[in-house]
Amino acid sequence: MADYDLIAVGGGIGGSALATVMGRAGYSVLVLEKSEVFEDQVRGEWIAPWGVTEVRRLGLYDLLMGVGGHHLTSHTTYDETLDPAVAEAKTLPLGIFAPDVPGPLCIGHPKHCQTLFDAAAQAGAETVRGVDVNAVSLGAAPSVTFTEAGVTRTARARLVVGADGRNSMVRDAAGVTLNADRPHHMFAGMLVEDVTGWDETRQAIGTEDDFAFLAFPQGDGKVRVYGSYGLGDRARFSGPDGARRFLEGFRVNCSPANRHIADGRPAGPLRSYANNDTCTDTPFAPGAVLIGDAAGWNDPIIGLGLSITYRDVRLLSDLLNGADDWSPELLAPYAEERRERMRRLRFVASIQSSLDAEFGDDARRRRRSYFERSASDPSLGLHAFAVMGGPESAPREIFTPAHRARVLGAETVPTT
Ligand SMILES: Cc1cc2nc3c(=O)[nH]c(=O)nc-3n(C[C@H](O)[C@H](O)[C@H](O)COP(=O)(O)OP(=O)(O)OC[C@H]3O[C@@H](n4cnc5c(N)ncnc54)[C@H](O)[C@@H]3O)c2cc1C
Repeated sequence: MADYDLIAVGGGIGGSALATVMGRAGYSVLVLEKSEVFEDQVRGEWIAPWGVTEVRRLGLYDLLMGVGGHHLTSHTTYDETLDPAVAEAKTLPLGIFAPDVPGPLCIGHPKHCQTLFDAAAQAGAETVRGVDVNAVSLGAAPSVTFTEAGVTRTARARLVVGADGRNSMVRDAAGVTLNADRPHHMFAGMLVEDVTGWDETRQAIGTEDDFAFLAFPQGDGKVRVYGSYGLGDRARFSGPDGARRFLEGFRVNCSPANRHIADGRPAGPLRSYANNDTCTDTPFAPGAVLIGDAAGWNDPIIGLGLSITYRDVRLLSDLLNGADDWSPELLAPYAEERRERMRRLRFVASIQSSLDAEFGDDARRRRRSYFERSASDPSLGLHAFAVMGGPESAPREIFTPAHRARVLGAETVPTT
C-alpha cells in the first residue's frame, strides 16, 4: 500500500495547483517544497488569456483574483520604425482572445506560489517545505526520500509528479532528457515600483537600437519589466549599478511613456537568462510524470510558462481523476497533446525572437516591412494570436516554414 496517491516534488505553480485540484477531488497528496519562503526569482507574472481559461477550468480563478490578481486590457507595440502616435493608435484590446476573459492576468510570482501552496493544504494535501529531497525511486513502487528539520523519511505513492522546475530531479530519476535549442538572446527582468503615469491596464513591447523592452503593470504602481539584448552582450547589466543601467535602457524615443518606468525604483533582483526552448516527447516514465518547466520550457520571450503549466495540470488531473490504473498508458494523451502544443509555441517564440530581439539594420528593415505588410494583411500576425488565444487558436498552416518566410522574409544571422 502506498502512503499517498501522489507525491509532488516542487510546490511552486504546477505542484501546488495540481495538489489543490487533486486534494479537492479527494486524493491524498504530499507536496515537498525545497524553499522556506517563495522569493522573487524573476519568473512568470503574466498569464495569457488562454491560460486564464485554464485557471478558470481548474476552479482557481477566484482564488487568484482574491489575492490581488490584476487584469491587463490593452497592448501597444512600439518600434523605432514607428511614430509613437501611430503605434498608440493601433493599441489592441486584449479581451478578444478568450470568452469572458478581459485580458492577461498578472500576479506576483511569490504570492502566486504561496497562495496555491496554502490552497493545497486547505484542500487536504500534506504540504512540507524546507525539504531536501535525497532520492527519488520510480517504477512499480515509487517513493521519495527526503529530509525535513533533520529528520529523514521515505514516502511511497502511486505516482510521483516532477513539478520541480528547470533542474528537475524527478526528470533525472525518470531518465528523461530534454532537447534544448541554442539560446537566441539574453533576457533580463526586474520588478519596478513607484511608477507613476503609466496606464496600469496597458502592456507594451518595443525595440530600439540594440534593446527590446516588455512592460507588464502589476497594479499599485508596480511594473514587471524585461529587456532583450544580444548574447554577445551578456554582462551588459552586471555590477552594482546594473539595475539602474537596466532601467535607463527603457528611456527610448519610440515609447515616450517609458520614462515613467525609467524613473521608477527597483523593487526586486535583476536576473538575466540566455533564452531558449527545451522539450521532450515523453514527459513521463513508470511511476512518474513531469509537469511545467520540469517537462520542458518554452522560450520566455512569449511569456507562456504559466499558461503551459496550468494546462498541464488540467490535462493530468482530468486523466488521473477517476482512473483506477495510473500506468504510463493512461498518460499517453497528455504527452501527445503537449508535444504538439510545445511544437507550435516553440515555432511562435522563434518568430517572435527573430522579430523583436534581433538588432541592426537588417533586423530593423525586416520589422518595418512586417509592420507595413501586416497593416494590409492581418493574417501575417496570426502566430501572435496563438500567444494570446492558445496554440490551437491559429490554423495549422501558421506553424510552417512558409508562414515564417512570409513574416520574416530573407533572414539574417542574429547579432551576438
Ligand atoms: C525570465 C523569465 C520570465 C518569465 N516570464 C513569464 C511570464 O511572464 N509568464 C509566464 O507564463 N511564464 C513566464 N516564465 C516562465 C514561468 O515562470 C515558468 O514556466 C513557471 O514558473 C513554471 O512553473 P513550475 O511550477 O513548473 O516551476 P517553478 O515555478 O520553477 O516551481 C518549481 C518549484 O519547485 C521547487 N523545487 C525545485 N527543486 C526542488 C527539489 N529538488 N525539491 C523540492 N522542491 C524543489 C522550487 O523551489 C519551486 O518552488 C518566465 C520565465 C523566466 C525565466
